[in-house]
Amino acid sequence: MRGATAEPRKCLVCGQECRLWLGNLHDDRFGAPGSYDIIKCSRCGLEQTWPRPTELELKNLYEQFYNTGVEPGGAYQSRRERFLASGWYRLWLQWDGDLSFHLRRGRGRLLDLGCNEGRGLSLYAANGFTAEGLEINEKAAALARQRGFTVHTGTLAEFTPSESYDVVVLANVLEHAFDPVVMLVQVRRLLRPGGEVWISCPNGDSLWRRVFGRGWVNWHVPFHLWHFSPRTLRMVMTRAGFRRTEVKTFTPALWLAQSFCIRRGSRAGRANRLMRSTPVVAGLMLAARLLVLPWFFRADRRLRGDCLVATARME
Ligand SMILES: [Zn+2]
Repeated sequence: MRGATAEPRKCLVCGQECRLWLGNLHDDRFGAPGSYDIIKCSRCGLEQTWPRPTELELKNLYEQFYNTGVEPGGAYQSRRERFLASGWYRLWLQWDGDLSFHLRRGRGRLLDLGCNEGRGLSLYAANGFTAEGLEINEKAAALARQRGFTVHTGTLAEFTPSESYDVVVLANVLEHAFDPVVMLVQVRRLLRPGGEVWISCPNGDSLWRRVFGRGWVNWHVPFHLWHFSPRTLRMVMTRAGFRRTEVKTFTPALWLAQSFCIRRGSRAGRANRLMRSTPVVAGLMLAARLLVLPWFFRADRRLRGDCLVATARME
């Protein structure tokens, strides 16, 4: 897919020319066709996937390739469901890190942006929140409603809730946004004064990106359109009007395990089978958590972990 090649390679935030950072990446998870580059702004350092598919091309890519073949109610999904509902999952998050804010307790109205089938909604509700979802995929939204939650469908731009929210969660969402600044401006519109946005996304400054190189799990082209570092994420948030953003990093064992699967088992135009094998991924996760990550905890503290977590409060 080379739909947008005629567009100049300009930075979304500062308008400067971007230069090639890494060329010829392909979809190493689902086997979507096409070759993509990572380009980097020569002034502010913001990285993006190039060419950026049009919004229509993205819609088609998601419908055709993203998480297809993972049937709700299938063996893989039901094992996953049971694990997420168990106390073992909470223990694991305390040990490994909380990618989707499933341990954060609080009160008030919470909106999970891109809630999928609503697995997170159950956990937010159990932690004290009145949880709602916004989901563009009608099928996923219907499954979330079966769990008893209010789930709005449609785009963020069209969404006009009757009441504002205390928390909006963007767990691994912002890097998929067609325009992250526009997305964050729209999120601000949904928050009450004093409300918070919780963001997680891959870290472009990650030590593990260097280690795995082209096999790093979080290139994830063409679905990841933006590759934020702590600095460029803060910059994008400031541009959207959020002040005083707190940023931390940590390294989920799952991501390390998946990077390993991609290094071992990815072929252009083919879905990665290794990543769909529960015993392989679970074994690798345990090995990563027990044998690898204890040696690299300082990387997380120095903002070199694999996952960026940002929190900002509305003034
Ligand atoms: Zn720039």
